[in-house]
Amino acid sequence: MKYEEAACLGMETEIFFTFEDALPQFDIESVTTVRKICFKCPIWRDCLIQGFRQEKYGIWGGITEVERQHIRNGRGMSQRLRRDCSQMGVAAEEVYGALKEAQRQAREANDV
Ligand code: SF4
Repeated sequence: MKYEEAACLGMETEIFFTFEDALPQFDIESVTTVRKICFKCPIWRDCLIQGFRQEKYGIWGGITEVERQHIRNGRGMSQRLRRDCSQMGVAAEEVYGALKEAQRQAREANDV
């Protein structure tokens, strides 16, 4: 993964990690704000796959830890994720394909 191309380079990392742990209620607007950054990032797909395979917490490639868990549990993409994809001009099928690829790689590597 080419971190030097990351859209978040130089940003405060807390904005990618403060949601599900720190807030009493899931902060939907903050997630959407971060997703807007991630879905325009040139390395979002690689980031999403790394997040799925190796990271328990935070938003990686625009996907939250809860959304990664949904995929692991066979529950598919949430309505919110689909809505955000639609509103941001990102094909939900492309995101779902990246998540399934990450899941395939994780299974092959026995990450999960
Ligand atoms: S996808 Fe998001 S978290 Fe990952 S490198 Fe890009 S901006 Fe950073």
